[in-house]
Amino acid sequence: MFLKKIEMQGFKSFADRVIINFDDPVTGVVGPNGCGKSNISDAIRWVLGEQSVKSMRGSSMTDVIFNGSENRKKVNLAEVTLVFDNEHKVLNSEYEEVEVTRRLYRDTRESEYLINKVSCRLRDIHDLVMDTGLGRDSLSIISQGTISYFAEAKPLERRVIFEEAAGVSKYKKRKIESISKLERTKENMDRMQDIVDEVERQVNSLKRAAKKAELYKNKKEMLQEVEVSVLVRDIKEFTDANEKIKEQMFKVDAEIASIETSEGVYDHELEAKRQEMYKMDQDISKAQELMMSYVREIGLLETRKVEIDERRKYTLEVGDKKAKAQEMYALMNDAKLEYDDRKERHTELSAEVEFLVESNYERNRKIADQQQSVGTLQSAINQLSNRLDIINSRLERPFESNHGVQAVMNNKASLFGIHDVIGNVFTAKDDYEVAITTALAGSIMHLVTDDDKAAVNAINFLKKNGAGRATFIPLSVARPRSVANDAVTVATHAQGYLGVASDFVINDEVYDDLRDSLLGNVLVVDTIESANVIAKRLQYNYKLVTLDGDVIHRGGTMSGGKNRANNTSMLTLKRDKENLETEIAAKKDALINEENLMNKLNIENKDAGDTLMQRRIALAQLEPLLDVKRSKYERLKMEYEEMNPDEIAPEEQGDDIVVQLNRAYMERDELTTNLALLRERRHALSGDIQRKEVLIRQYRTDLNKLTQERHGLILETTKNNTKLESGLERLSSEYQMTFDYALENIYDEDAAMSRDEVLKLRNEINALGNVNLEAPEEYAETSERFEFYTKQLGDLVEARDKLLSVIEEMDEIMVVQFKEMFDKINKELPIVFSALFGGGKAKLILEDENDLLNTGVDIDVQPPGKSVQNIRLFSGGEKSLIAISTLFAILKARHVPLCIFDEVEAALDSANVERFANYIRNFSDDTQFIVITHRPGTMAQADVLYGVTMPTKGVSSMLRVKLDEAIELKEAQA
Ligand code: ATP
Ligand code: MG
Repeated sequence: MFLKKIEMQGFKSFADRVIINFDDPVTGVVGPNGCGKSNISDAIRWVLGEQSVKSMRGSSMTDVIFNGSENRKKVNLAEVTLVFDNEHKVLNSEYEEVEVTRRLYRDTRESEYLINKVSCRLRDIHDLVMDTGLGRDSLSIISQGTISYFAEAKPLERRVIFEEAAGVSKYKKRKIESISKLERTKENMDRMQDIVDEVERQVNSLKRAAKKAELYKNKKEMLQEVEVSVLVRDIKEFTDANEKIKEQMFKVDAEIASIETSEGVYDHELEAKRQEMYKMDQDISKAQELMMSYVREIGLLETRKVEIDERRKYTLEVGDKKAKAQEMYALMNDAKLEYDDRKERHTELSAEVEFLVESNYERNRKIADQQQSVGTLQSAINQLSNRLDIINSRLERPFESNHGVQAVMNNKASLFGIHDVIGNVFTAKDDYEVAITTALAGSIMHLVTDDDKAAVNAINFLKKNGAGRATFIPLSVARPRSVANDAVTVATHAQGYLGVASDFVINDEVYDDLRDSLLGNVLVVDTIESANVIAKRLQYNYKLVTLDGDVIHRGGTMSGGKNRANNTSMLTLKRDKENLETEIAAKKDALINEENLMNKLNIENKDAGDTLMQRRIALAQLEPLLDVKRSKYERLKMEYEEMNPDEIAPEEQGDDIVVQLNRAYMERDELTTNLALLRERRHALSGDIQRKEVLIRQYRTDLNKLTQERHGLILETTKNNTKLESGLERLSSEYQMTFDYALENIYDEDAAMSRDEVLKLRNEINALGNVNLEAPEEYAETSERFEFYTKQLGDLVEARDKLLSVIEEMDEIMVVQFKEMFDKINKELPIVFSALFGGGKAKLILEDENDLLNTGVDIDVQPPGKSVQNIRLFSGGEKSLIAISTLFAILKARHVPLCIFDEVEAALDSANVERFANYIRNFSDDTQFIVITHRPGTMAQADVLYGVTMPTKGVSSMLRVKLDEAIELKEAQA
């Protein structure tokens, strides 16, 4: 049997444990009124999950617990267990046998459900019986007094009976669940939609902001490229211009210097020459005066000579032989004197000319020599100047070979805490330059900084610009070092020790610690030999340097020697520069001396040339005169000899007028020559002076022009420098770039041409207003969120659609199953109806055929021989028959495992009871019936009968009875 057993204890009137076993298809339950029959039916419904207090016929659920009787105490627990045979899997469980239990405790008022002794929820009980035909809403359990309900129910209420019969309850339940899920999904969708809308708004606004930021960045980059290019080009231009100006300036300066020198020299010369000319004028006038005196003297002497000659002529004409001879002799003697005098003068002049030629030759050789020594000096000066230039240019760009250091020094303004290189913060004392340079070694190019932060900053700057490497010494970490006292004592007693290196350095006070950290433990000695001795005595514990730049390191390693180019550092360079400058100055002084000497020689040469010329002229003039005097003397001598002079001894002539004349002539002639020479010289001098005056005037004009030009160049340089510096400053402060970096990495020639672009871009950037540079990132982030939420929304929409389609599917299934079952039942109903009523018609009618899901179910009944009337107007028996017909039609249409009837046939007449009982009998092959009844007709069809009695007042008990006992039992009561 489907329901195998009922076990009750404490339920309503069943205070004691009662077990009913069902072994037969039709079980009848009989007994007097109030004995507890209906309580059995109640118990079954209760276990199957009945929740309605009213249908349990109580006012509270605890009313089902045995409440005590006259001599029985009430109990606290009601418990009922049903045992089902589930071999055919009628119940929704995989077990062959299913035991369902419900308990209720009075004090907690709580129900407890168990399936197969395992506690479970109410809904598990519902699931278990759902669509088995045993459900709450089926017609299979009909309680006492509810038989007319079916006929009287509203079409919609009636519908559920057919739904239960059609087995669509589970779909309905699932649909309700799906709908509530759908509601929740929709709520979530709404919430998600709100979020998506909000995020979308954010995305849109961020998209605009990001675009703007992108635009800003692009423009900024463009601006950087263009502006940096323009700056680089400007800097290049200004640098080139300055370079040119420098060259020009150099030329102008050289020209000015040379003109100034020349002007000075000429000024000086001019003064001397004017002096000379003044003296010359005096000499000339003196010579002229002297000349006049000689001319006068010659005049007097000649007059006297004429008188003497007249007297002699007279004597020669009229005198005696002796007198004549005497006179002749005198004439001859005079002629001889004159001739001798001229001859002597000739010899003298010739000798002088020869001497002058000789000394000219000599002087020219001297001039050549002098020229050579001037040339030698000049080329020496040139060489030295070249060396000085090189040193100067190295001093001007001390970090040329070290890009990193150069970059840092060039950008000192935009960095912080940068001092200078070590080589520039220390100055070596005289003669210690090489030693200190050697002692400092590589650190000479290290950059001094305030502290480590400044160094880190500068290193990052170098990195960013790829501008080279540099080593930094933060002042904050410099720790002074020193030479131990005993070591100093040892060194002091050795030969050649000069002192500790730090003593030979001049520096600002702030660098004292730095100086001592680098040089405080280095000893300076004169030579490598001394160094060797001292190093040994100090056990090689200290570094020693020599004046020559040799080193003995701590531990004894030595290095030394000499490079072709001197060991140079900024310290030695400064020293070399000074030395060179002194040397050049000395050489220049020497050059001036030599040049003066040269000038003197040249002037002498010129003078000597003039003198030679004059002497030659004088000689040429003398020669014909010499001939005249000789032939006169020879003629007179012949004449005198013809006079036979041996006989007449000539008297001594005391007259020396001729001698005097000779001397006067000579003086006059010499004076004439000298005067001519003087005049010539004066002429030359005055020409010279004039030329020089013109030149000096020219020089002054040139100088004026050059000075103006120089001034202009300085102005231009200053202007260029200002622009240059502002360009470099902007590069460094605005873009943190060195010029070299910008030139190599950013400079674009075309971009540099578009100076206007800079202004345009700046305006465009300004016009962008506030820019959120984080926007692109925020946009990406928010877009991602937007996508995420949109996808979630999509998932929800998908879920909703799935739910909708599930609901639709279930609707379809429900419609089909409902209609199928409805049709089946409707086919059986008229047959059952007419069988039970003995004719007549009955039909189920759908209120709205188009809405099978919701339509109510009406029933159209026409008992035999009666016209159609309102179903409510039927008699109680008729109403029972209608309900029973419908139930039987359902039983025909589908399998129902169990039916429990509580006096459903109470209102029927005996003939109808018979028909009813027969029907039950007929269905009993498939359906188990438990029938509570007072009617013998029904009892007669039962396989087994149970009598319910109350042997103890108020407590029901059960016993199997025979049919006649049953009838008796009923009648005993009645
Ligand atoms: P009838 O033939 O008149 O229909 P019946 O046999 O169906 O009678 P029931 O309705 O099953 O009788 O039983 C009713 C009896 O059960 C009443 O006497 C009532 O007092 C008793 N009863 C109901 N609930 C309880 C309870 N909680 N405790 C004790 N007795 C109860
Ligand atoms: Mg009853």
